[in-house]
Amino acid sequence: MNHNLFFKLFEKPMVQLTVKLNRKILTPARRRLSYRSEEEMSVVCPFCGIASGKAHASIVYEDAAVVVFMDLNPANIGHTLVVPREHWENIYEVPEDALADIFSVVKRVSAAVKKTVGAEGISVLQLNGRAAGQTVMHFHVHVIPRFRGDPLSKAVGAMVEHQGLEKPERSDLDETARKIWENLQKVRLPDK
Ligand code: AMP
Ligand code: ZN
Repeated sequence: MNHNLFFKLFEKPMVQLTVKLNRKILTPARRRLSYRSEEEMSVVCPFCGIASGKAHASIVYEDAAVVVFMDLNPANIGHTLVVPREHWENIYEVPEDALADIFSVVKRVSAAVKKTVGAEGISVLQLNGRAAGQTVMHFHVHVIPRFRGDPLSKAVGAMVEHQGLEKPERSDLDETARKIWENLQKVRLPDK
């Protein structure tokens, strides 16, 4: 793996991120946890610990809004995590503008990781809730290098593959689409 190339890519000035950390309106996660100091959060939450510099990590890149570091238990060599400094538990709690900024970093990190390990592909994975497999309850995005036929093929591929459910009729798909559309109209975005 060419580590020099990896880090060189990050010497170039990153696009300035405009996430406003001092949001006036507290998101639900922050409101719930606001009785906890940054000190306490860094003990309670491993990613807050890394973001505050109190816990060790192999950091690739950081700025005012995000910290990017190597996954401690990589699914493949080069597995990297993109993590906002702010403690949002999941995607529902992250304000839209922050999400856009986080994903612009995800895009650049994906390109850098791919180049560094010579990956043939990149899986961008983001889990919400224990049922989805989330283990660290601080929003984060996985950038996972992929190689044809690698051991992840079955696991990751299976997530979006047909799982033996009966194939729905077009009318079922239309009905579900309509119901989701209805709920989409009711979704309140945080901090907007
Ligand atoms: P998730 O299942 O999406 O919550 O993923 C959490 C990821 O964080 C796993 O891949 C872990 O290996 C990784 N992880 C947990 N603690 C640390 C840590 N202190 N430093 C780096 N990666 C970590
Ligand atoms: Zn946290």
